[in-house]
Amino acid sequence: MRFSDIPGLDSHKERLIDSFKSNEIHHAILFNGQIGTGNLSLSLAFASYINCENRSEKDSCGTCATCSKMDKLIHPDVNYIFPVAPTTKINKEVVSDKFIDAWRASIIDSPYLSIDDWFESYGFENKQPNISKDEVRNLVKKLTLKPFETRFKINIIWLPEYLHLSTSNAMLKILEEPPGETLFFLVTNNHQRLIQTIKSRVQMFKIRRFNEDEMKSYLTKYNDISEVEVDQSIYISDGDINKAERYLNISEADDLENLKSWMRACYSKNFSEINKQIDWFNLLSKIRKRAFMTYCLKLMREALVSNIDEKLSRISEDEKKFIEKFKMTLDISSFEKIVLSVDESIRFLDRNANPKILFLDLSIKISDLFSSRVKT
Ligand SMILES: [Zn+2]
Repeated sequence: MRFSDIPGLDSHKERLIDSFKSNEIHHAILFNGQIGTGNLSLSLAFASYINCENRSEKDSCGTCATCSKMDKLIHPDVNYIFPVAPTTKINKEVVSDKFIDAWRASIIDSPYLSIDDWFESYGFENKQPNISKDEVRNLVKKLTLKPFETRFKINIIWLPEYLHLSTSNAMLKILEEPPGETLFFLVTNNHQRLIQTIKSRVQMFKIRRFNEDEMKSYLTKYNDISEVEVDQSIYISDGDINKAERYLNISEADDLENLKSWMRACYSKNFSEINKQIDWFNLLSKIRKRAFMTYCLKLMREALVSNIDEKLSRISEDEKKFIEKFKMTLDISSFEKIVLSVDESIRFLDRNANPKILFLDLSIKISDLFSSRVKT
C-alpha cells in the first residue's frame, strides 16, 4: 500500500510523513476513524513508507524488496493482530497468526473492510470477535526478537476495541515499556470502547471521512461500471468507501425496479406478490439486504424533506418520477411513519433479525398506511 493508493487525505499523509522526517514518530499511534475511512490503509502506507529502501519525498517506491513484501503483507518485521473467533478446527490459542492467510487476502482485496465483512468472508458466522490474552503472549514472544530486515519493528493492531479486558491490561504493559525501535499502530473504528489507560498511552490521530470527490476518484478503478451507478453507490454510503465499493460489487439488480414492484404490491395489498418480494429479499446477502433498505430509506427521505431541486442531481430521472408519484399516494404523517419503519428495519437487520419476518412486517405496515390514505 502506498500513500498514492489512497484517494485524497493529503493533510493526513503530510502529517505522517513530517513526523517521520523530523524523527518524531510516536511509538504508539491510534489511527482513529469510522468504518470505511482510510485508517487501516494509512497505517499500512505509513509502515511501507517508513521501511521503504528507496522512498521519495512523498511516498514509498512501491518496487523495492521491502515494498513488495509490504504489499503482500508478508514483511517479517511487520506483525498483524486482528479480531478472530474460535472455529471447529481452531479452538485453542485462537490467535491472529492462525488466520493470517485469509486476513491478508481480505485486506488486499479491500483495505476498507469492516469487522462484519471480515467475519462474513472468513465464515465465523455470528461469533463474537475477540483479541484474546494468548494474542498478547504471542506478541511478547515476537517483541523479544530484533527486526530482521529493517530499522523498525511495526505492530499493526486492527480494531483494538475487541481486546478482551484482561488483554487490554497486558497490552498496556507493552505500550508503557516498548522495546526500542518498536512501533504500534492501533487502528480503531470505535475509540470509545478502548480503556482510558490505553488511550492515554497513544497519540490520537483522527481520520476524517472521505469526501465525494475522493470516493469518486477511488471508485473509477471500476471502469466497467457506469457513472450513474458510481454516483448511486456514493449517495447511499455516507462517506463509507467500503460500503460504496461493496454496493458496486454486488449491485447486479436494479434497486429502483425492486422498490417499485414492492411498493406496488403493498399499495394493492397483493400478498402473493409481496411473498415473492420476501423470497427475493431473503436470498440477498446480508450486505445486499442492508444496501437495498438503505437505498429505499434514502430515496424516501429525499422525497419527504425536499422539493427535488438541482442539488439532488445525483438522483436519476427515473428516481425523480418514482418519488413524485410516491408522494402523491401518501399524506405527510403516513410518509414519515414509513421512513421511520424502514430506518428501524435497518437497525433490526444489523442485529440479525429474521429477514423474512422483518420484510413481511414492514410490508404490512406500509400496506396499512397506503389504505388509510385511500379511505380519507
Ligand atoms: Zn520501496
